[in-house]
Amino acid sequence: MAGKTLKAAVIGFPVSHSLSPAIHNHWIKQYELQGFYDARKVPPEHLKESLLRLMEEGYTGFNVTIPHKQSVMALCDELDDTARAIGAVNTLAAGGDGSFRGYNTDACGFIENIRDAAPGFDFAAGAALVIGAGGAARAAVYGLQRAGAKEIRIANRTHGHAEKLARDFGAEAAPCGTGAAGLKDVALLVNTTPLGMKGQPPLGFDASILPPGAVVCDIVYSPLETQLLKDAAGRGLKTIDGLGMLLHQAARAFEIWTGIRPEITVELREKLVKMTA
Ligand code: NAP
Repeated sequence: MAGKTLKAAVIGFPVSHSLSPAIHNHWIKQYELQGFYDARKVPPEHLKESLLRLMEEGYTGFNVTIPHKQSVMALCDELDDTARAIGAVNTLAAGGDGSFRGYNTDACGFIENIRDAAPGFDFAAGAALVIGAGGAARAAVYGLQRAGAKEIRIANRTHGHAEKLARDFGAEAAPCGTGAAGLKDVALLVNTTPLGMKGQPPLGFDASILPPGAVVCDIVYSPLETQLLKDAAGRGLKTIDGLGMLLHQAARAFEIWTGIRPEITVELREKLVKMTA
Protein backbone atom coordinates (compact mmCIF):
# COMPACT_ATOMS: atom_id res chain seq x y z
CA MET A 1 0.00 0.00 0.00
CA ALA A 2 2.83 2.40 0.84
CA GLY A 3 3.38 4.98 -1.88
CA LYS A 4 -0.27 5.82 -2.44
CA THR A 5 -1.31 9.36 -1.58
CA LEU A 6 -4.57 10.66 -0.15
CA LYS A 7 -5.11 14.33 0.51
CA ALA A 8 -8.71 14.75 1.64
CA ALA A 9 -10.92 16.94 3.81
CA VAL A 10 -14.35 17.27 5.30
CA ILE A 11 -16.01 20.52 4.33
CA GLY A 12 -18.85 21.97 6.38
CA PHE A 13 -20.03 25.00 8.29
CA PRO A 14 -19.39 24.45 11.18
CA VAL A 15 -16.96 21.54 10.95
CA SER A 16 -14.62 21.68 13.95
CA HIS A 17 -16.59 18.98 15.84
CA SER A 18 -16.08 16.40 13.05
CA LEU A 19 -14.60 13.00 13.93
CA SER A 20 -13.79 12.31 10.26
CA PRO A 21 -10.16 13.57 10.46
CA ALA A 22 -9.44 11.15 13.35
CA ILE A 23 -10.94 8.25 11.38
CA HIS A 24 -9.26 8.87 8.03
CA ASN A 25 -5.88 9.85 9.48
CA HIS A 26 -5.95 6.58 11.44
CA TRP A 27 -6.40 4.66 8.17
CA ILE A 28 -3.85 6.79 6.28
CA LYS A 29 -1.32 5.77 8.94
CA GLN A 30 -2.47 2.13 9.14
CA TYR A 31 -2.20 1.63 5.35
CA GLU A 32 1.05 3.68 5.14
CA LEU A 33 -0.33 6.21 2.67
CA GLN A 34 1.24 9.59 2.01
CA GLY A 35 -0.92 12.60 2.79
CA PHE A 36 -3.50 13.63 5.37
CA TYR A 37 -7.16 14.41 6.00
CA ASP A 38 -8.28 17.66 7.60
CA ALA A 39 -11.41 19.71 8.31
CA ARG A 40 -12.13 22.87 6.32
CA LYS A 41 -14.74 25.39 7.31
CA VAL A 42 -16.50 26.44 4.11
CA PRO A 43 -19.36 28.98 4.26
CA PRO A 44 -22.25 28.22 1.89
CA GLU A 45 -21.60 31.28 -0.30
CA HIS A 46 -18.00 30.13 -0.99
CA LEU A 47 -18.66 26.47 -1.72
CA LYS A 48 -17.64 26.41 -5.38
CA GLU A 49 -14.48 28.52 -5.16
CA SER A 50 -13.40 26.76 -1.93
CA LEU A 51 -13.65 23.36 -3.60
CA LEU A 52 -11.75 24.55 -6.67
CA ARG A 53 -9.02 26.10 -4.49
CA LEU A 54 -8.67 22.91 -2.45
CA MET A 55 -8.42 20.93 -5.65
CA GLU A 56 -5.62 23.24 -6.81
CA GLU A 57 -3.91 22.52 -3.47
CA GLY A 58 -3.96 18.83 -4.41
CA TYR A 59 -7.01 17.56 -2.51
CA THR A 60 -8.69 14.68 -4.32
CA GLY A 61 -11.29 13.52 -1.80
CA PHE A 62 -13.93 15.38 0.19
CA ASN A 63 -16.57 14.53 2.71
CA VAL A 64 -19.42 16.96 2.65
CA THR A 65 -21.46 17.80 5.71
CA ILE A 66 -24.11 20.32 6.83
CA PRO A 67 -25.09 22.62 5.10
CA HIS A 68 -23.58 21.52 1.75
CA LYS A 69 -24.97 18.02 1.16
CA GLN A 70 -27.64 19.15 -1.30
CA SER A 71 -26.06 22.28 -2.78
CA VAL A 72 -22.87 20.44 -3.76
CA MET A 73 -24.86 18.24 -6.14
CA ALA A 74 -25.05 21.09 -8.65
CA LEU A 75 -21.22 21.14 -8.79
CA CYS A 76 -20.90 17.43 -9.55
CA ASP A 77 -20.11 16.33 -13.10
CA GLU A 78 -21.39 12.86 -12.24
CA LEU A 79 -23.54 11.40 -9.46
CA ASP A 80 -23.70 7.78 -8.43
CA ASP A 81 -27.16 6.15 -8.33
CA THR A 82 -27.38 6.26 -4.52
CA ALA A 83 -26.63 9.99 -4.31
CA ARG A 84 -29.16 10.66 -7.04
CA ALA A 85 -31.87 8.58 -5.35
CA ILE A 86 -31.27 10.10 -1.91
CA GLY A 87 -30.82 13.62 -3.25
CA ALA A 88 -27.68 14.34 -1.24
CA VAL A 89 -23.91 13.91 -1.60
CA ASN A 90 -21.64 13.21 1.38
CA THR A 91 -18.53 12.14 -0.53
CA LEU A 92 -16.77 13.70 -3.52
CA ALA A 93 -13.95 12.31 -5.61
CA ALA A 94 -12.05 14.81 -7.76
CA GLY A 95 -10.83 13.54 -11.11
CA GLY A 96 -7.45 14.54 -12.53
CA ASP A 97 -9.29 16.64 -15.16
CA GLY A 98 -10.91 18.86 -12.49
CA SER A 99 -14.23 17.02 -12.53
CA PHE A 100 -16.18 15.92 -9.44
CA ARG A 101 -18.07 12.68 -8.91
CA GLY A 102 -20.59 12.72 -6.05
CA TYR A 103 -21.52 9.76 -3.86
CA ASN A 104 -23.68 9.12 -0.84
CA THR A 105 -22.13 6.61 1.57
CA ASP A 106 -24.57 7.25 4.45
CA ALA A 107 -27.08 4.64 3.27
CA CYS A 108 -24.40 1.97 3.00
CA GLY A 109 -22.92 3.08 6.37
CA PHE A 110 -26.32 2.85 8.02
CA ILE A 111 -27.04 -0.67 6.76
CA GLU A 112 -23.51 -2.02 7.28
CA ASN A 113 -23.64 -0.82 10.88
CA ILE A 114 -26.84 -2.79 11.52
CA ARG A 115 -25.42 -5.87 9.78
CA ASP A 116 -22.27 -5.58 11.88
CA ALA A 117 -23.99 -4.93 15.22
CA ALA A 118 -26.95 -7.30 14.74
CA PRO A 119 -25.67 -10.14 12.53
CA GLY A 120 -28.52 -12.11 11.05
CA PHE A 121 -31.05 -9.31 11.46
CA ASP A 122 -33.70 -9.90 8.80
CA PHE A 123 -34.72 -6.57 7.27
CA ALA A 124 -37.78 -8.20 5.68
CA ALA A 125 -39.03 -9.75 8.94
CA GLY A 126 -41.07 -6.84 10.27
CA ALA A 127 -41.82 -3.15 9.91
CA ALA A 128 -39.12 -0.48 10.28
CA LEU A 129 -40.15 2.76 12.01
CA VAL A 130 -37.90 5.68 11.07
CA ILE A 131 -38.20 8.78 13.25
CA GLY A 132 -37.23 11.92 11.36
CA ALA A 133 -37.53 12.91 7.70
CA GLY A 134 -34.35 14.88 6.99
CA GLY A 135 -31.27 13.95 4.96
CA ALA A 136 -30.18 11.11 7.24
CA ALA A 137 -33.70 9.67 7.20
CA ARG A 138 -33.66 9.69 3.37
CA ALA A 139 -30.40 7.71 3.42
CA ALA A 140 -31.80 5.30 6.03
CA VAL A 141 -35.05 4.70 4.10
CA TYR A 142 -33.15 4.15 0.84
CA GLY A 143 -30.74 1.77 2.58
CA LEU A 144 -33.55 -0.14 4.26
CA GLN A 145 -35.33 -0.64 0.95
CA ARG A 146 -32.16 -1.88 -0.70
CA ALA A 147 -31.62 -4.24 2.23
CA GLY A 148 -35.05 -5.80 1.67
CA ALA A 149 -37.31 -4.00 4.17
CA LYS A 150 -40.89 -4.51 3.04
CA GLU A 151 -42.66 -2.00 5.26
CA ILE A 152 -41.15 1.32 6.27
CA ARG A 153 -43.04 3.88 8.35
CA ILE A 154 -41.82 7.41 8.85
CA ALA A 155 -42.82 9.58 11.81
CA ASN A 156 -41.67 13.17 12.00
CA ARG A 157 -42.32 16.40 13.89
CA THR A 158 -43.48 18.04 10.65
CA HIS A 159 -45.87 15.46 9.27
CA GLY A 160 -45.73 16.99 5.77
CA HIS A 161 -41.99 16.18 5.59
CA ALA A 162 -42.73 12.56 6.53
CA GLU A 163 -45.40 12.43 3.83
CA LYS A 164 -42.99 13.81 1.22
CA LEU A 165 -40.28 11.29 2.13
CA ALA A 166 -42.84 8.47 2.16
CA ARG A 167 -44.07 9.51 -1.28
CA ASP A 168 -40.53 9.71 -2.69
CA PHE A 169 -39.72 6.15 -1.63
CA GLY A 170 -43.10 4.43 -1.62
CA ALA A 171 -43.06 4.19 2.19
CA GLU A 172 -45.76 5.17 4.71
CA ALA A 173 -46.05 8.31 6.83
CA ALA A 174 -47.05 7.49 10.42
CA PRO A 175 -48.36 9.76 13.15
CA CYS A 176 -45.74 10.74 15.77
CA GLY A 177 -47.67 9.48 18.76
CA THR A 178 -48.21 5.89 17.59
CA GLY A 179 -49.22 3.82 20.64
CA ALA A 180 -48.24 0.26 21.55
CA ALA A 181 -50.90 -1.23 19.28
CA GLY A 182 -49.38 0.48 16.22
CA LEU A 183 -45.91 -0.80 17.12
CA LYS A 184 -46.55 -4.47 17.69
CA ASP A 185 -45.05 -5.51 14.36
CA VAL A 186 -42.05 -3.12 14.51
CA ALA A 187 -38.78 -5.05 14.18
CA LEU A 188 -36.54 -1.99 13.88
CA LEU A 189 -36.84 1.51 15.32
CA VAL A 190 -34.42 4.16 14.09
CA ASN A 191 -33.91 7.67 15.41
CA THR A 192 -32.57 9.94 12.67
CA THR A 193 -33.33 13.25 14.44
CA PRO A 194 -30.71 15.14 16.47
CA LEU A 195 -32.81 14.56 19.61
CA GLY A 196 -30.73 12.82 22.26
CA MET A 197 -27.52 14.50 21.12
CA LYS A 198 -25.47 16.50 23.68
CA GLY A 199 -27.24 19.83 24.16
CA GLN A 200 -30.56 18.53 22.78
CA PRO A 201 -33.53 17.13 24.71
CA PRO A 202 -34.00 13.35 24.58
CA LEU A 203 -36.20 11.82 21.88
CA GLY A 204 -38.94 11.04 24.38
CA PHE A 205 -39.94 7.75 22.81
CA ASP A 206 -41.26 5.11 25.19
CA ALA A 207 -39.16 2.05 24.37
CA SER A 208 -41.30 -0.08 26.68
CA ILE A 209 -44.07 -0.16 24.07
CA LEU A 210 -41.87 -1.90 21.49
CA PRO A 211 -42.31 -5.65 21.07
CA PRO A 212 -39.65 -7.94 22.59
CA GLY A 213 -37.06 -8.76 19.93
CA ALA A 214 -37.17 -5.29 18.34
CA VAL A 215 -33.84 -3.68 17.46
CA VAL A 216 -33.36 -0.01 18.36
CA CYS A 217 -30.86 2.05 16.42
CA ASP A 218 -29.89 5.67 17.13
CA ILE A 219 -27.73 7.43 14.57
CA VAL A 220 -26.73 10.05 17.15
CA TYR A 221 -23.21 9.17 18.42
CA SER A 222 -22.50 11.89 20.95
CA PRO A 223 -23.27 10.65 23.53
CA LEU A 224 -22.76 7.10 22.42
CA GLU A 225 -25.55 5.80 24.61
CA THR A 226 -28.52 8.13 24.18
CA GLN A 227 -31.49 8.02 26.53
CA LEU A 228 -33.38 6.12 23.82
CA LEU A 229 -30.71 3.40 23.75
CA LYS A 230 -30.48 3.30 27.57
CA ASP A 231 -34.24 2.78 27.86
CA ALA A 232 -34.25 0.16 25.11
CA ALA A 233 -31.32 -1.71 26.68
CA GLY A 234 -33.10 -1.54 30.05
CA ARG A 235 -35.99 -3.33 28.35
CA GLY A 236 -33.63 -6.02 27.09
CA LEU A 237 -33.83 -4.88 23.46
CA LYS A 238 -30.87 -5.03 21.10
CA THR A 239 -29.41 -1.53 20.66
CA ILE A 240 -27.15 -0.06 17.99
CA ASP A 241 -25.36 3.27 18.38
CA GLY A 242 -24.54 5.83 15.69
CA LEU A 243 -20.75 5.56 15.83
CA GLY A 244 -20.82 2.42 13.71
CA MET A 245 -22.71 4.24 10.94
CA LEU A 246 -20.15 7.02 11.01
CA LEU A 247 -17.31 4.49 10.73
CA HIS A 248 -18.96 2.46 7.96
CA GLN A 249 -19.84 5.48 5.82
CA ALA A 250 -16.24 6.66 6.26
CA ALA A 251 -14.90 3.23 5.26
CA ARG A 252 -16.84 3.34 2.00
CA ALA A 253 -15.58 6.88 1.27
CA PHE A 254 -11.97 5.80 1.96
CA GLU A 255 -12.47 2.88 -0.43
CA ILE A 256 -13.82 5.21 -3.15
CA TRP A 257 -10.72 7.43 -2.86
CA THR A 258 -8.03 4.78 -2.41
CA GLY A 259 -9.40 1.41 -3.54
CA ILE A 260 -8.65 0.11 -0.04
CA ARG A 261 -11.55 -1.12 2.08
CA PRO A 262 -10.23 -0.18 5.54
CA GLU A 263 -10.70 -2.24 8.66
CA ILE A 264 -12.89 -0.90 11.45
CA THR A 265 -10.88 -2.08 14.42
CA VAL A 266 -11.75 -2.10 18.11
CA GLU A 267 -8.76 0.21 18.61
CA LEU A 268 -10.17 2.83 16.20
CA ARG A 269 -13.63 2.61 17.73
CA GLU A 270 -12.16 3.01 21.24
CA LYS A 271 -10.21 6.07 20.12
CA LEU A 272 -13.44 7.68 18.87
CA VAL A 273 -15.43 6.66 21.94
CA LYS A 274 -12.91 8.62 24.03
CA MET A 275 -13.35 11.64 21.73
CA THR A 276 -17.15 11.60 22.09
CA ALA A 277 -17.08 11.16 25.91
P1 NAP B 1 -31.77 17.33 8.90
O1 NAP B 1 -31.80 17.06 7.45
O2 NAP B 1 -31.72 18.71 9.42
O3 NAP B 1 -33.10 16.61 9.51
C1 NAP B 1 -33.40 16.69 10.89
C2 NAP B 1 -34.66 15.88 11.20
O4 NAP B 1 -34.84 15.88 12.61
C3 NAP B 1 -35.94 16.46 10.59
O5 NAP B 1 -36.82 15.41 10.32
C4 NAP B 1 -36.46 17.33 11.74
O6 NAP B 1 -37.87 17.48 11.72
C5 NAP B 1 -36.08 16.50 12.94
N1 NAP B 1 -35.88 17.37 14.11
C6 NAP B 1 -34.91 18.29 14.27
N2 NAP B 1 -35.03 18.88 15.48
C7 NAP B 1 -36.12 18.31 16.07
C8 NAP B 1 -36.77 18.50 17.31
N3 NAP B 1 -36.33 19.41 18.21
N4 NAP B 1 -37.87 17.75 17.60
C9 NAP B 1 -38.32 16.83 16.71
N5 NAP B 1 -37.75 16.61 15.51
C10 NAP B 1 -36.65 17.33 15.20
O7 NAP B 1 -30.56 16.57 9.61
P2 NAP B 1 -29.86 15.21 9.15
O8 NAP B 1 -28.77 15.49 8.20
O9 NAP B 1 -30.95 14.26 8.76
O10 NAP B 1 -29.15 14.73 10.51
C11 NAP B 1 -29.93 14.33 11.61
C12 NAP B 1 -29.03 13.77 12.71
O11 NAP B 1 -28.37 12.60 12.26
C13 NAP B 1 -27.92 14.72 13.17
O12 NAP B 1 -27.83 14.64 14.58
C14 NAP B 1 -26.67 14.17 12.53
O13 NAP B 1 -25.50 14.45 13.28
C15 NAP B 1 -26.99 12.67 12.57
N6 NAP B 1 -26.25 11.93 11.52
C16 NAP B 1 -25.46 10.91 11.92
C17 NAP B 1 -24.76 10.17 10.98
C18 NAP B 1 -23.87 9.04 11.42
O14 NAP B 1 -22.99 8.65 10.64
N7 NAP B 1 -24.06 8.48 12.61
C19 NAP B 1 -24.87 10.50 9.61
C20 NAP B 1 -25.72 11.54 9.23
C21 NAP B 1 -26.40 12.26 10.20
P3 NAP B 1 -38.62 18.61 10.86
O15 NAP B 1 -38.84 17.98 9.50
O16 NAP B 1 -39.88 18.82 11.61
O17 NAP B 1 -37.73 19.81 10.82
